[in-house]
Amino acid sequence: LFGSLPVGRLFGITVRVHWMWVAMLLLIPFSLDGRPLQNVVGFLVLFGIVLLHELGHALVARRFRIRTLDITLWPLGGMARMEHIPERPGVEFWIALAGPLVNFGLAALGGAAMFVLFVVEESVNLGATAELAYNALFAFTAANLVIGGFNLIPAFPMDGGRIFRAFLAVFVDWLRATSIAVQIGRLFAFALITIGVLGWLYEWPQTMFLPLLGVFLWLAGARELLSVRIRRAQSAEQAAAFGVRPGENAAAAAPRPRPAAAPTDPSGARRPEVASIDGAARRTLTAEDLERLERYRGRLRPRERE
Ligand SMILES: [Zn+2]
Repeated sequence: LFGSLPVGRLFGITVRVHWMWVAMLLLIPFSLDGRPLQNVVGFLVLFGIVLLHELGHALVARRFRIRTLDITLWPLGGMARMEHIPERPGVEFWIALAGPLVNFGLAALGGAAMFVLFVVEESVNLGATAELAYNALFAFTAANLVIGGFNLIPAFPMDGGRIFRAFLAVFVDWLRATSIAVQIGRLFAFALITIGVLGWLYEWPQTMFLPLLGVFLWLAGARELLSVRIRRAQSAEQAAAFGVRPGENAAAAAPRPRPAAAPTDPSGARRPEVASIDGAARRTLTAEDLERLERYRGRLRPRERE
């Protein structure tokens, strides 16, 4: 999240904009065809919609007592950074669904407003104003349908992918569900990159940003899978530290939560290696690695329960 600046607070959540987003806003009057002011207004409305989508996630998360650290607007969309999402399918399902539901709600409002305008126009002649309003409402409704629909693509870690993982997690272990969802997300990421590259060759302006999104999805999926693995390794290590046998509920058996000062080390001795991750690329993670991941994905290490 380097290089993003806070612009305000909504419902107690800090809203940030990334510097690339600011650069895009400044470039828009010069880079697009049409009237500059209209383009800027369109851009701001678009990101207002994205912000409401993220707020949808954040407010439903709050219903499950999950704090949202901040919401950041990027050139490609928004991201609500949550403290920690519990590994429970129901919770993940509702938080993920909330964003697209906001968009479909807004699209319904836009459609209703268009209908009202249409009825009023029948009796009162509004002239050119009506056409302008009609076009604006149409763009608003379409944008919401596209954003809501696009986010439902089951490409983890997009919303649709999260819903898919929640569905899988009903039948298989959370780590297994994440791994399957990430594999499928990679197929989508690959498809997006391919479409985007074709778009560059054939000059389709609408698909220009897709390779970037594909790369982002690929990396974000890998990171999320890693964070689930770390959490698993952590709880296995924690269980061993408390002498819990495999299969036993570590949380129930643990006599006391670990002190916050040394959350990864029960012995109190300093130890750089925190967890080793299974898999083809076996590597060790340092405390700094973990910290960096936590900044991105919320808390991974155990903390005291309220
Ligand atoms: Zn979303």
